[in-house]
Amino acid sequence: MENDSEASNKIRNILYKFMDYCYLFFFQDKVATECLQLHGGLGYMLEYPIARAFLDARVQPIYGGSNEIMKELIARQIISDK
Ligand SMILES: Cc1cc2nc3c(=O)[nH]c(=O)nc-3n(C[C@H](O)[C@H](O)[C@H](O)COP(=O)(O)OP(=O)(O)OC[C@H]3O[C@@H](n4cnc5c(N)ncnc54)[C@H](O)[C@@H]3O)c2cc1C
Repeated sequence: MENDSEASNKIRNILYKFMDYCYLFFFQDKVATECLQLHGGLGYMLEYPIARAFLDARVQPIYGGSNEIMKELIARQIISDK
């Protein structure tokens, strides 16, 4: 059976992963948006792979736990650490 400090280390590691994901999603979205802009109107047409890449990037901060919820979990952990 794990003790309190092992459990809180586990939670902390999970939250560090959340933070990495937030950072990754932010840049994926930024890159996809820039690429779409570069392709102009064609980048908006679903027939082009860039449109798909844009959609895939845009959904990342929503599914599997939205960024807002992740931030709330991180904030709770930071507050409980003090
Ligand atoms: C392509 C796709 C695949 C999916 N696959 C799965 C799957 O395999 N398994 C599964 O279980 N689920 C799956 N989902 C569901 C996914 O987990 C949810 O979409 C996600 O948890 C967000 O919930 P929601 O869509 O109900 O948005 P909502 O909860 O209605 O949120 C809408 C907006 O409000 C914000 N918000 C909500 N609550 C708060 C709050 N307390 N504070 C601040 N902001 C808040 C959110 O961040 C979001 O921006 C999938 C979703 C998509 C789009």
